[in-house]
Amino acid sequence: MKKLLLASNNPDKATEVRDLLADLHITLALLNEFPQFPPTIEDAETLEGNALKKATEAYRRTGLPTIADDTGLEVHYLNDQPGVYSSRFAGPNASYADNCAKLLRLLRGVPPRRRAARFRCVIAFVPDEHTHHCVEGICRGVIVESPRGTGGFGYDPLFLPDGHTQTFGEMDLALKNTLSHRAHALIALKSYLRSIGW
Ligand code: IMP
Repeated sequence: MKKLLLASNNPDKATEVRDLLADLHITLALLNEFPQFPPTIEDAETLEGNALKKATEAYRRTGLPTIADDTGLEVHYLNDQPGVYSSRFAGPNASYADNCAKLLRLLRGVPPRRRAARFRCVIAFVPDEHTHHCVEGICRGVIVESPRGTGGFGYDPLFLPDGHTQTFGEMDLALKNTLSHRAHALIALKSYLRSIGW
């Protein structure tokens, strides 16, 4: 069985990715198996740049074919912010709750029809020193007026996907994994991996 490294220190993402890749015949390794490596500094200006940086650094340190995901929440009313800054929207060490509180503050009084947003997830695959392939997944929805649900992570309690009555925070993981940005990106990745014989 081939081994694939997920270059992420985020256990919430790892849970989703493991679930979504369960039908591929691979062993998924996680970065916490390599505690000696410092985390990648995510200073690129795009999701693609950060995903590629994380995957390339982890590949160089481990020699394992690697994937890395970088995700941003793009809110139309805020000119697509927080975007690539989603994890540090409320400051360098911001918690999920801090970031959600800032987003709600900036959208206070904005009516539902102007609260459109999308999650965009980019996954970079780096199998060797000379090759990389990026895929993208998008999920559109709206930002609700107060947090709903305790499931998921990050901005999930604030995000109501189009065509649904539950926020990501209210859904169980199995349902989120049928429609999320990360699910769409991983479907594209799996199709690419199969096309190259994985
Ligand atoms: P990054 O890809 O680790 O830089 O993620 C950026 C931030 O986006 C995270 O800290 C979360 O707050 C948020 N985020 C990423 N993926 C999701 C998701 O699937 N649901 C909700 N928030 C997410």
